[in-house]
Amino acid sequence: MARGPHSRKIPARILVVMDEDLVESEAGFAGLGLRPELLRALVSLGYEEPTPIQRESIPPLLSGHDLVGQAATGTGKTAAFALPILQSLTGGSGNDPQALALVPTRELAEQVSQAVHRYGRDLNVRVLPVYGGQPIGRQLQALSRGVQVVVGTPGRVLDHINRGTLHLGDVRTVVLDEADEMLDMGFAEDIEAILAETPAERQTVLFSATMPPRIDAIARRHLREPVRIRMAREDVAPGEMPLVRQSAYIVGRPYKAAALGRILDVEAPTAAIVFCRTREEVDSVTEALNGRGYRAEALHGGMSQDQRDRVMGRLRGGSTELLVATDVAARGLDVEQLTHVINFNVPSAPEAYVHRIGRVGRAGREGVAITLAEPREQRMLKAIERLTGRRIPVERLPTVTDLRARRLELTRSTLQGALEDDDLDRFRVVIDSLTDDADIETVALAAVKLLHEAAGGDVDEQEIPTPAPQRRDKETRQRPTDSGVTRLFVGLGRRAGLRPQDLVGAIAGESGLPARDVGAIQITDRFSLVEVPDSAADRVIKALSRATIRGRRPTVRRERHGR
Ligand code: AMP
Repeated sequence: MARGPHSRKIPARILVVMDEDLVESEAGFAGLGLRPELLRALVSLGYEEPTPIQRESIPPLLSGHDLVGQAATGTGKTAAFALPILQSLTGGSGNDPQALALVPTRELAEQVSQAVHRYGRDLNVRVLPVYGGQPIGRQLQALSRGVQVVVGTPGRVLDHINRGTLHLGDVRTVVLDEADEMLDMGFAEDIEAILAETPAERQTVLFSATMPPRIDAIARRHLREPVRIRMAREDVAPGEMPLVRQSAYIVGRPYKAAALGRILDVEAPTAAIVFCRTREEVDSVTEALNGRGYRAEALHGGMSQDQRDRVMGRLRGGSTELLVATDVAARGLDVEQLTHVINFNVPSAPEAYVHRIGRVGRAGREGVAITLAEPREQRMLKAIERLTGRRIPVERLPTVTDLRARRLELTRSTLQGALEDDDLDRFRVVIDSLTDDADIETVALAAVKLLHEAAGGDVDEQEIPTPAPQRRDKETRQRPTDSGVTRLFVGLGRRAGLRPQDLVGAIAGESGLPARDVGAIQITDRFSLVEVPDSAADRVIKALSRATIRGRRPTVRRERHGR
């Protein structure tokens, strides 16, 4: 589509109903009772309305209830607990934290801490991520200056408690985020020990993507009459799912815009809508697509009615072929010949997915729904599959070779179209003069080359790496790769109650090495051997030597020969 003379017109049955800024309206975040400083931050982040998990969680959390929420990454769960925490922070004189969020990994500690910082920017919130593998000096300094919110991995948080550098006596809210992951990583006892340091009257919030009995047991032991929230799982009735070709691509965040461009090049939709989460995302995706030669238009709730009318005018006139929109802005929008719905992110609720893709594949026409998912969001794809009862195949991203082939094909079909034009004769004089020196095939080749290049032809494509498949960590562990591994000796064994998941949890939590990169583990009565990639060995030794595993600080070193 996009390129060349063949883009088709989109018919004029379009309706956009968006008169007010939803963030400030009753239907938006303001209707949940959040304070103005938080609403301002949300507006500036381009959030237009709460996600379902936020709509359900924020009011009970604001009124002090405990809560158990079943929610995976991508649902907006971080804001669901962070906003109520921020709302209840007091400027207070005390230096000790008022809220503590426990998370399974250092990456998540960073992410959640940054989110709290962003949402709380107008409250000057002091938030500190605390995880292993980071110089402890910086953490100690920040803690002694005073912080209001601590976001940490259980191992390092317990470490600070044992050193006397973290006092949880003033904590009013504790969040257990990704609780199932934390248990899988062997943090159960650390969590118990940490909770025991917090006041009994605290508010406790537990989020988990899955709800196995172990999570329920924790909730029963540590939460008081929690409100339970689960993403609604209404089944979609068989005939209700539109007949749409669905697929998904797993792409790391930095490569998403490039991946989208490639997918659009290959799919060549007649008319597509690309859904984004926020206004900022809408703007940056629109810019990226225009840079690639598409005629894309942004549509979001932050635009004035005038601006939106103009976009619609261009869409009706056929001079725009891609709409990039938030859910809010696209509400009520009905484009009859829409062929593709593209989700730049996995939607925050499975129902939103069904709603979005209902815009294509109407009245027996073929429709296509494509979803870009970050590796961590694959669980949300599964939730959508469960709701719709249909599989969403994960496809391989088009390669540079695929793209070249596709672009040549576009050039070919453009030429084929031109062959049918009846005013070709006036160019004959050019051909005649050129064929004095070159044969006619060479002249044709040069003409095709020029056309190809003028239409965007061979642009330089950046490499898009394929992310490693996400895999849950089980007790039996295999060697992760055949590249070099180093065997480490850890001076704790079965007698100390050590289990494989304790080691995996401590290594992942304290050194930041992903759990899937931890290799074979052998546990004897008095010591254990664990394989890690050569390149990570020093980091793991350093981090583990400072860690507490099952209440002890073990000796950790490279395995000596002879053992
Ligand atoms: P989470 O599930 O907390 O990891 O959030 C997933 C992503 O959604 C993050 O990039 C958030 O910034 C974004 N997000 C969270 N809430 C909203 C919202 N109400 N509107 C738009 N984006 C959101």
